[in-house]
Amino acid sequence: MDAHHQVDLRRTRRLNAKPDRPGTVVYWMSRDQRSMHNWALLFACMKSNELGRPLEVVFTLAGSFLGASRRHYDFMFKGLAETESALRRLGIPLTVLTGDPGVTLPAYAIEQTGAGAVVTDFSPLRLPRSWKTRVAEALPCALYEVDAHNIVPAWLASTKQEYAARTIRPKLHALAPAFLTPFPEPEARFQPSAIDRPPVHWEQLGGWPRQDPPDGSSDLLLPGQQAGEERLRQFIGQGLEGYAVRRNDPNSGCVSRLSPYLHFGQLSAQHVALSVAGSPAAAENREAFIEELFIRRELADNFCLNNDRYDHLDGMPEWARSTLANHGQDRREHLYTVEQFEHAETHDPLWNAAQTELVRTGLMHGYLRMYWAKKILEWSPSPTSAFEIAIVLNDRYALDGRDPNGYTGIAWSIAGLHDRPWFERPVYGKIRYMNASGCARKFDVVRYIRRMTDLGLAGIGW
Ligand SMILES: Cc1cc2nc3c(=O)[nH]c(=O)nc-3n(C[C@H](O)[C@H](O)[C@H](O)COP(=O)(O)OP(=O)(O)OC[C@H]3O[C@@H](n4cnc5c(N)ncnc54)[C@H](O)[C@@H]3O)c2cc1C
Repeated sequence: MDAHHQVDLRRTRRLNAKPDRPGTVVYWMSRDQRSMHNWALLFACMKSNELGRPLEVVFTLAGSFLGASRRHYDFMFKGLAETESALRRLGIPLTVLTGDPGVTLPAYAIEQTGAGAVVTDFSPLRLPRSWKTRVAEALPCALYEVDAHNIVPAWLASTKQEYAARTIRPKLHALAPAFLTPFPEPEARFQPSAIDRPPVHWEQLGGWPRQDPPDGSSDLLLPGQQAGEERLRQFIGQGLEGYAVRRNDPNSGCVSRLSPYLHFGQLSAQHVALSVAGSPAAAENREAFIEELFIRRELADNFCLNNDRYDHLDGMPEWARSTLANHGQDRREHLYTVEQFEHAETHDPLWNAAQTELVRTGLMHGYLRMYWAKKILEWSPSPTSAFEIAIVLNDRYALDGRDPNGYTGIAWSIAGLHDRPWFERPVYGKIRYMNASGCARKFDVVRYIRRMTDLGLAGIGW
């Protein structure tokens, strides 16, 4: 099958005005770290065929990525090792470059491959975008970007920051028939590499700055594309059928826990959406899940792509900033430092349990994430510091951290993003409020706390 007819070119855009040249095609893999169901890889295959030149994959490892810790690198490296093997079986080598990608990628492309075209995947976050700007300038050939993460390419879904889920939903639904399409099988043809690149020694690539606490659960997520597929299969078989009604109950096991696989691009959201849509689950469950996976997730990319201040209070809606400012001097009943939050040392057993889940497993149930962030607002000296603390802790411990979904989720909880004004109250102003008795109406809080207490943070000496 010819890859040319397989990739809708609206998924791609050029990041410079330079031409394709005779030379190797390099896929600079970044956000979408998989060999299957990957439109950026498919487009690179297409280029390789078109130019009649070999294809190779390069992954750049920046010194320290937004506070990522060993837990993240471990999950990522194990997934990438699996991807490397899968690509090698196809005849596509994968090479890792360490250092500033803005320098290492163009140097490698020019000196080692004589690149004819470079293809990369898409992220709306500032740091990868700044790398791409520099790479686009330094390369002598075309740099293409392919949105392999979203179902509808983010730049096509909308060209402005959307107001809320209700404003982006009709746009995404209108484009879904064109983009929520099956992946080609067999995937694509390309020119195998004639160059023999040495295998990557993943265990020697380290350099993470901090020590993680020991993991606390026997049922931690296994990294990689295959483990992600297995988790998806289990969820469709066991959790999905309760999704519409029971997803807000952290004890129910009715959420997918796919976010780390989606964050590292070990699974494609489009593939997950197609698998769920084609499952025998009741329509209400399929639709409720696709609302989160498709609409909410792509709304988060839309926000970060169109608002450079996605992780600062000053980037939040005017009404929210002004109501929070009006309540900046309100007395806080409890005040905690970032360390007290980090070590789950608040007066609230439910909050401490949620923090314990995050620290010991790298995950926190989605409903509790909202409660967790709103209480950080309530118990911090200012909304600005609350925003910072929530981001630091989420990015440090959540396996799916440093993601547009995280910045957006925190902005929603603390600063009214994609939400509306509610009744005015102390500290929160008109930001939507949540409390523990609301949680108790939704689920068995005592049971949840007991489960997390068993994981414990005490006495582990980190
Ligand atoms: C304060 C706060 C912080 C958050 N931090 C992150 C984060 O760092 N990374 C992250 O991926 N998500 C984050 N979320 C969004 C959401 O809570 C998680 O995506 C979800 O809980 C992941 O669990 P799951 O895979 O079992 O979700 P499921 O309920 O099974 O949903 C399936 C998928 O849909 C997407 N999704 C679900 N809920 C949301 C949502 N509210 N917004 C956007 N996409 C969603 C995710 O990709 C998720 O994996 C955060 C939300 C809040 C309120």
